[in-house]
Amino acid sequence: MKLFPLFADLQGRRVVVVGGGEVAARKAQVLLEAGADVQVGAPALAPELAGLAAEGRIRHLPGEFRAEWLDDAWLVVAATDDRAVNAAVSRAAAQRRVFSNVVDDAELSSFQVPSIVDRSPLIVAISSSGVAPVLARRLRERVESLFDHSLGALAGLAARYRPRIRERRPDLKQRRRFYDWLLDGPVAGLLRQQQPAEAERVLNDALDAPEDASQGSVVLVGAGPGDPGLLTLKALRALNEADVILYDRLVSPAVLALARRDAERVAVGKRPGEDHDATQARIHALLAEHARAGRRVVRLKGGDAFIFGRGGEELEYLRAQGVRYEVVPGITAALACAAYAGIPLTHRDHAQSVRLVTAHCREDEDSLDWPGLAREHQTLAFYMGVGQLETLSARLIGHGRSGATPFALIENGSRPEQRVVTGQLADLAGVARSHEVRAPALLIVGEVAGLARQLHWFGAYQEGRREPLAA
Ligand code: SAH
Repeated sequence: MKLFPLFADLQGRRVVVVGGGEVAARKAQVLLEAGADVQVGAPALAPELAGLAAEGRIRHLPGEFRAEWLDDAWLVVAATDDRAVNAAVSRAAAQRRVFSNVVDDAELSSFQVPSIVDRSPLIVAISSSGVAPVLARRLRERVESLFDHSLGALAGLAARYRPRIRERRPDLKQRRRFYDWLLDGPVAGLLRQQQPAEAERVLNDALDAPEDASQGSVVLVGAGPGDPGLLTLKALRALNEADVILYDRLVSPAVLALARRDAERVAVGKRPGEDHDATQARIHALLAEHARAGRRVVRLKGGDAFIFGRGGEELEYLRAQGVRYEVVPGITAALACAAYAGIPLTHRDHAQSVRLVTAHCREDEDSLDWPGLAREHQTLAFYMGVGQLETLSARLIGHGRSGATPFALIENGSRPEQRVVTGQLADLAGVARSHEVRAPALLIVGEVAGLARQLHWFGAYQEGRREPLAA
């Protein structure tokens, strides 16, 4: 470790800033926020510093740098654009055992100022030991996005209630569980929704309850179509906090890789020989079992959980079982595939509405409004296996949609191996066969599908040929 991290209490302590320009002003500001007694030494002060001096918030030490300025200082920051002056500051500081920071000069500095994420009283400080400030800034951005702004309020609340929590939960294990509940449960949620009074009421109720109310919970998370960049910040947070993740076959490995390292990952897709209802019942039981054991469960589904994802059924079950839950929406395949194929789902000239449809082309399960679906000036997005295309195009054409209507099949939408295959509705099944389109694939039917030809920007693009006619 090249640098030892520490958090300094500067309340009322003298800190000298050498330099009177903009950088010095920025440094003086932060030091004032930390309650330091700031003195700024420079022949002249930039307007912002002059203002602070006039208000009496800082003291101006006029003239060229003098070593005596540092006599009563705890820290010094050199922010001049003259390296010789900065070096003199650094030397004088070393002689007096005063820590010095020379802005943007790791070599002359005996302390560095980290990049920070401020959720006071919680502060995350990041350092690259002065060698890669860009990297430190990057990391800061990531950390910034991981921690909600309500975290400061949560930490403040936890601090205020610490004595009462200790009194009401004397047992260490119980107390730990209570803190977990406090940080992950409804109190944190209410603070995020900016309802501090309600949050405090829930906290009080929980403290007064004799039994520990800190049971587990389930977050139903939409993982999007595959590109991990399409996760929401909330989904990322849930993945970072999960104890166990129950995921579907459609969830991409790149998304799973972002989850907490030691979270247990359980694939719950359909097993060979198992029917859909049996799979679903098994998943329900697993969800409830893990939550009852006090775990934070993430139920991770491809796309959005409420679009052909049976998310509703899972919530009904959890509600009946009294298990707490939350829902985080995801980007559904139709939106992602359209975006990544350059197909605007609505368009002033071509389509005024869009329908998300799942087609069961089996006669007995087919309750779709085919005449409605066959109407013009609308876009259809079909979620389904690729085995049903023959029936599908026949029905649409049979109910009046033109055989010349453009379609686009998007295979592995948003993933590195994405492929878009386009053609005309009458040729749909033949094109899919000759191009060997495989699941997962989404079908878009409507004039807008033809725009992929000009607007596609990601992955492979192929224009469908009919299968050569058998001789
Ligand atoms: N809940 C999911 C849909 C589940 S149904 C969502 O909101 O996206 C499964 C169907 O979704 C697949 O048969 C396929 O038609 C479509 N699908 C899901 N992910 C896809 C992807 N990355 N590329 C293309 N189609 C996809």
